[in-house]
Amino acid sequence: MAFHLPRGPGKGHANPSTMTQPPSPARADAATAAASSAAASPGTPAAGAPGTAERRRQALGWLHTAHFLSSAPQLEHLPPLGLPEIAFVGRSNAGKSTAINTLTQQKRLAFASKTPGRTQHINLFGVGKGQVDDAVLADLPGYGYAAVPREAKLRWQRVMGNYLVTREALSGVVLMVDPRLGLTELDEVLLEVIRPRVEEGLNFLVLLTKADKLTRSEAAKALSIARLQAGGGEVRLFSALKRQGVEEAAETLWRWTHAEG
Ligand code: GDP
Repeated sequence: MAFHLPRGPGKGHANPSTMTQPPSPARADAATAAASSAAASPGTPAAGAPGTAERRRQALGWLHTAHFLSSAPQLEHLPPLGLPEIAFVGRSNAGKSTAINTLTQQKRLAFASKTPGRTQHINLFGVGKGQVDDAVLADLPGYGYAAVPREAKLRWQRVMGNYLVTREALSGVVLMVDPRLGLTELDEVLLEVIRPRVEEGLNFLVLLTKADKLTRSEAAKALSIARLQAGGGEVRLFSALKRQGVEEAAETLWRWTHAEG
């Protein structure tokens, strides 16, 4: 299905190769570190059910296991993984890479997506405890970057549109928006593309990034405007710098991909 945007997307040039790497051997260490580094907050679990603090700790530990799986320039090159997938989308510079790195508590995970040759790729990361992936994070190319040749923009539009409309395993979409810019025209087009799937039950979360740059009243205003525009999705403030909304977002992603949520 075509996905024609009025203006331009991501950066860099398409690389037609598909790269696949085995899971990182450092996974077990990462998971252990996450479990021990997550704050042992006093949750108030009801009989048998984990409390909020415990669920958030669990979710952060789970996300910390994220590791690079593969990078593909087109939908047909994406491996069928048979796992629930969460897509991260947003305009270039919206704070998507920083949000992914913060949520996974890894310094450079998403910046792999910014290396030459991969900027217009869909990059997949596996997540799962005990060396067994139970979900996939998909980092989609940033859009709206002006200095990109028209051909590359059109190609990106097709890749992204195809992915969002047809990817069967998609269980949720996280849209990163810089609230100082608000939803741009390209964000609106993206919303139109996913709206039918959201109406059918696809999970959708808008993260208003760099929230530390907003005053309290600016934040309240940005939230209410974005809620009107988000078409049924959740909207939250998020700051990697101040760690605002990080645990809540982690818990949401966990809930989307785990039946008990
Ligand atoms: P991407 O192009 O969407 O992946 O955006 P990046 O993650 O590279 O972030 C774009 C710019 O915003 C960078 O200069 C980041 O340092 C900055 N940034 C990202 N998150 C935050 C945040 O929570 N607070 C502040 N103040 N700056 C941020």
